[in-house]
Amino acid sequence: MRDMTPQDSNPERLGGGAGEEPQARRRGFDYLIVGAGFAGSVLAERLARGLNKRVLVVDRRPHIAGNAYDYHDESGVLIHRYGPHIFHTNAQRIVDYLSQFTEWRPYEHRVLAQVDGQEVPIPINMTTLNRLYGLNMTTEEEAADFLASRAEPVENIQTSEDVVINGIGRELYQKFFRGYTRKQWGLDPSQLDKSVTSRIPTRTNTDDRYFTDSFQQMPKYGYTKMFEKMLAHPNIKVMINTDYREIRDEVQYDHLIFCGPIDEYFDYRFGKLPYRSLKFEHKQLEQEQFQAVGTVNYPSEDVPYTRISEYKHLTGQVHPKTSITYEYPSAEGDPYYPIPRPENAELYKRYQQLADQTPGVTFVGRLGTYKYYNMDQVVGQALALYKRIEEAELATQPQ
Ligand code: FAD
Ligand code: UDP
Repeated sequence: MRDMTPQDSNPERLGGGAGEEPQARRRGFDYLIVGAGFAGSVLAERLARGLNKRVLVVDRRPHIAGNAYDYHDESGVLIHRYGPHIFHTNAQRIVDYLSQFTEWRPYEHRVLAQVDGQEVPIPINMTTLNRLYGLNMTTEEEAADFLASRAEPVENIQTSEDVVINGIGRELYQKFFRGYTRKQWGLDPSQLDKSVTSRIPTRTNTDDRYFTDSFQQMPKYGYTKMFEKMLAHPNIKVMINTDYREIRDEVQYDHLIFCGPIDEYFDYRFGKLPYRSLKFEHKQLEQEQFQAVGTVNYPSEDVPYTRISEYKHLTGQVHPKTSITYEYPSAEGDPYYPIPRPENAELYKRYQQLADQTPGVTFVGRLGTYKYYNMDQVVGQALALYKRIEEAELATQPQ
């Protein structure tokens, strides 16, 4: 780690241009941001460009971009270190914001699930049902009737099991959801909030796209390139390989924005918030293509991984070799997924109340607010926080 007391920092890089008192320069940073993922990088960009604040961003990983980090592996294939990241959103303002830092490449994600020895579309659609049950349905009405005949109404839908059984019945639940969810979360769907499996719709048409959002495109040159542009501002200093705890007593700043796990910040005062982790096995193959679509899901508990993704489908890269990633769910490791269930929400609420009573620090992002958010939702959350900061700032300025 480089020594980075603010006195040592280059005042030119840190802004504070002509006319500013040397005293003010020495004061350090306006903001210390922990985490260079979407939450931290969007806020750094906005505070620097929008409000001319001096920002220090630290991340304990050896790179920026958080979980969205991508890079070229030894074969030269662009891969995602933390599993497949597909950008999709219905919010035009989020697209407009990110478009300042990247061009885009259209990509609609398609996923097949290996069930009963076949690879069939997931989300379940008319094609899935025809293939699994040897049917020849051609209208949405027929498919809807078929699903209605299988569905087992649940009166009070609370859990991830309830919501699927209510929609498509126990048999399809067991084929597609039970095993996958038990592997992914280390819990039975009956122990998880309904929001988890509700992410996956059921369709009566033949639409086999994983998402139906109005905007489905990938950053043309990858996520990391987009983050590099976002953070390229003279008011922003970035330190990688740097844990917050290493520098918190060294750096002067007025306000802290924390995008790491909220329970870690408070030294687990009320106990650990459970997060689910993954082990990624990246493989480089001496062949041009491995599988038909970007991701194949493996719901069966007989295999230890949940899915295999092949990046060239996502990125459109043309290359004689290909690279794939297996995802093995794990209790240990980096915190990737907050686990949506009532007792965890209760515990998070206690941390949130503590955060509200702690001046000078704001929590944001998937780990900071313990929310199972997609990338666009994190960008939206960060932009909303920036708006509040901007309004507060404007309110204190003389008319
Ligand atoms: P992160 O990206 O996790 O960034 C937080 C950063 O803080 C990390 O880099 C971490 O190193 C750093 N940090 C934490 N504590 C400290 C500390 N004490 N000191 C210094 N640094 C610290 N979303 C989609 O929209 N589409 C997808 O297809 C998609 N696929 C996903 C697949 C997987 C396997 C996973 C795990 C997530 C996926 N997501 C996807 C979700 C997406 O990764 C998140 O929404 C997004 O990355 C959250 O951004 P963030 O800034 O909140 O957190
Ligand atoms: N899910 C499942 N079977 C599948 C796909 C998803 O049971 O084939 C469930 C599982 O619980 C999973 C959740 O739906 O964790 C959300 O799936 P998604 O693909 O959105 O997960 P993510 O990409 O966030 O890991």
